[in-house]
Amino acid sequence: MNKFRARLTLMFIVLIGCSVLTAGLFMAKLMQDSHIEALKTNMLRELHILQVTVDWKRSGTDAELTRYYTGQAMLLRNSADARITYIRADGKVLGESDYDPGNMDNHLSRQEVIDAEKYGTGIATRYSQTVGRNMLYVVVPVKDGAVTQGFLRLAMSLEDVENSIRHLWSVLLAGLIIVFVIAGLISYRLAYGITRPIEMITRVAQQITNRNYKARVHFPKKDEIGQLGMALNRMADSLQLQMNRITENEGRLSSVLENMNSGVMMIDKEERIVLLNRSAEEFLGFSSQELLGKKFDEAKQQFEFTQMIQECFETREHIRDEMIFYYPSERILDINLNPILQTDDEWAGVLIVLHDTTAMRRLERMRSEFVANVSHELKTPIAAVKGFAETLLAGALNDKETAKSFLQIIFDESERLNRLIGDILELSKIESKRIPLHFSPVHLHSFIANCVHVMNAEAKKKHIELEMQVPQDAYMEADEDRLRQILINLLSNGINYTPEGGKVKVKVELLDDIVAGSEGEKLKLTIADTGIGIPKKDLPRIFERFYRVDKARSRSSGGTGLGLSIVKHLVELHKGTIRVESEVGMGSKFIIELPVLH
Ligand code: ADP
Repeated sequence: MNKFRARLTLMFIVLIGCSVLTAGLFMAKLMQDSHIEALKTNMLRELHILQVTVDWKRSGTDAELTRYYTGQAMLLRNSADARITYIRADGKVLGESDYDPGNMDNHLSRQEVIDAEKYGTGIATRYSQTVGRNMLYVVVPVKDGAVTQGFLRLAMSLEDVENSIRHLWSVLLAGLIIVFVIAGLISYRLAYGITRPIEMITRVAQQITNRNYKARVHFPKKDEIGQLGMALNRMADSLQLQMNRITENEGRLSSVLENMNSGVMMIDKEERIVLLNRSAEEFLGFSSQELLGKKFDEAKQQFEFTQMIQECFETREHIRDEMIFYYPSERILDINLNPILQTDDEWAGVLIVLHDTTAMRRLERMRSEFVANVSHELKTPIAAVKGFAETLLAGALNDKETAKSFLQIIFDESERLNRLIGDILELSKIESKRIPLHFSPVHLHSFIANCVHVMNAEAKKKHIELEMQVPQDAYMEADEDRLRQILINLLSNGINYTPEGGKVKVKVELLDDIVAGSEGEKLKLTIADTGIGIPKKDLPRIFERFYRVDKARSRSSGGTGLGLSIVKHLVELHKGTIRVESEVGMGSKFIIELPVLH
């Protein structure tokens, strides 16, 4: 139970208690008054009767008179049931029913006596020294004509009245206690009724403070407290809405941060790392748990990087640089350091954005290497053409035989140049994915037979046997022109790099391969020769552009060094793979795996 309810209950009890007490006091007073009033009336009546029953005009000595009146008083005492006193006009007590009049002092100064003389009746309530208790005195004067002869006084103890008042009080007290208990219970109920909704509202407010935005006040009352509850509910509604929006935005923001390829790291103005996204973790080789909360210079980072951050902290200016990182793997990172300024232009730390430029730089390097390669490759035939043409012009033209052979060389070289440019264009087209594939069903047996037929003349020149082992019913979906390009390239390489009398074989097998999740039928195409083979160290680079094992041999055979590179790209366009197995002097085997359906 809370303090407010206790206070409210207490207030109710005090209120009810006070009213009951006041009512009791009033009642007691009223009762006392009416009791005394009744007594007075009675006593007066009795006095009037006594007035006429006694002979008030007796003469004699004081002692005689005292004896007589005392005797009378004692006689009448029983019937009146009250103490009777006869006081002479000069105040001397002549007769007394209960005490010895000789011991009593002059009564003329008694208030009731003065009042009786003045008004005809005197009434007083006072403590009697003689009796030792509260008494009610009623006095009437005894007259002889207009002359006051004495006073007749009746006195009654107020004990009865006091007793009944006391009784009334005890009843009242008992009643009061009962009323108190009932009042207490009712007050409690009442206070509970008032405080319960307040408590509920307080509880809900507390829950909202503790981030339970779903908490609501449930009670149907329409009074002020009900309205307060409703206002709280509305506040909670809007709070919930806003919190949802905030969490949604936060979620969006953090998912952007987590899923972006750039690394983001934030350092606050106390130089502590406060944010690190996944890419940054990957680039820097540390998890957020390891780095968050740490000072940037304790984060075990590359020295130059730490220095750069330090510099940004000192200059508070944007810094951008590219740096090679060696841990966790070798990478080129583009580093952007931005000073964070809050809306009020207050310095808040540094935001670091990292971009992995390794691939880009590698590509750039490859491009420039390619350009250098191409220029070099072009230069050789052009130099040859130019040289022989010069020689011819200088006079070799006259020697018919020499002239003819020179012209043949010029023709061959320009032919090679043509091929080279053709290949370069083809490769650049394939690499930039500008050639769309036109898939159609290809009957492999007839298709390969056709390719072999095309290459036959060349093979015959070197006495090389071309063999094929293709199932009659093998079909696949492919771009026929591109597939032909693959086969012709590999066959011509086979013929080129196989000495006379060798053998080149094309083989097709169907593979049942389960590819990650989907069941796809695959086909294995093998072109094997019995030629010179490729040294182990060259195998990994064989598919690179312009890579040749033996430059002189390749050139003399008319190769451009681009054939395998084109083949690899075409196979990949068909979602296939190519690999090579070879042993020097024993021959080479190019194995292509392609999906049957697309
Ligand atoms: P090239 O036009 O020089 O043949 P390729 O790209 O077709 O260019 O081949 C690259 C290099 O791979 C060749 O120069 C050659 O050294 C080697 N090579 C290709 N095919 C074979 C093969 N069947 N046997 C031996 N070496 C081969």
